[in-house]
Amino acid sequence: MTSGIVFDIQRFSTHDGPGIRTTVFLKGCPLSCLWCHNPESKQAEPAVVYDTAKCLRCGLCAKACLQGAISFDKGIPTLDSNRCVVCGRCSKRCPAEALELVGREMTVVEVLAEIEKDRVFYDESGGGVTVSGGEPLIQPEFLCALLQGCRQRGIHTTVDTCGHAQWQAMAKVSELTDVFLYDIKHMDSSKHHEFTGVSNELILENLKCLSRIHHGIILRLPIIPGLNDDLENLLMTGRLAVDLGISQVHLLPYHGIGADKYTRVGEVYRLPELVAPSPLRMEQIAAELRTLGLKVKIGG
Ligand code: SF4
Ligand code: SF4
Repeated sequence: MTSGIVFDIQRFSTHDGPGIRTTVFLKGCPLSCLWCHNPESKQAEPAVVYDTAKCLRCGLCAKACLQGAISFDKGIPTLDSNRCVVCGRCSKRCPAEALELVGREMTVVEVLAEIEKDRVFYDESGGGVTVSGGEPLIQPEFLCALLQGCRQRGIHTTVDTCGHAQWQAMAKVSELTDVFLYDIKHMDSSKHHEFTGVSNELILENLKCLSRIHHGIILRLPIIPGLNDDLENLLMTGRLAVDLGISQVHLLPYHGIGADKYTRVGEVYRLPELVAPSPLRMEQIAAELRTLGLKVKIGG
């Protein structure tokens, strides 16, 4: 039975494709964007994350752990990842929800059972399922099996991808996908590398190949002030869309909602001063891209 590591399943989503959708978030991502609002989704394996602000220093987590993986340093629990088997006993025992098990292995059948619960809403709204991440193509067999299951049930499928994947996997996924939400972060490869940890050649090459065999691609452009929101970069992206026969672009304005999650996963948020673009600025960007003949929407 095919299984994968699922980070979250969100029902009644209206920002990840047409209509009302269930969004399945798969764990693991090959990029590490500075603005990522789901830092706990980057690591491919399940993990326990700790929120010091919620912790009561009660010690119950250490007592619950059968592996002796939790010790205390000045009242603060410290987790030994070499001993931890990611069983989740500590997070279940924690009275303050300071410990959280992020990611769990699920079979395709289990995920489809969750998806089926909202079937009536998909049918009424023209919605369906969106598989997102992390990066869903990091688990290609699970992704294909899940999409296949949706297809067999007549459920509309959307895949939200950063495009950094093996072409063979993407080509296979394209046969089972109605709509691709395809992220483009920057057209300049060195800046792309600086902001996301990888260069953009593979992403752009995959987009070109995909546009030849699939006609349901929507480009998604995160608008990150000072990093990628200059008109030169945005218009270059827009012209690429036009050249590839892609007519729809979604602009996703930066928000700092995920910033407080970074301490929980032991990382430092590197854009603490960044302010979200104003609605006026977003409208200006949309208007510029519309001059290229693109259908532009602000938001997902
Ligand atoms: S997840 Fe399990 S093994 Fe890991 S620290 Fe918690 S109780 Fe111990
Ligand atoms: S059980 Fe929760 S609240 Fe208590 S020490 Fe452990 S993490 Fe902190």
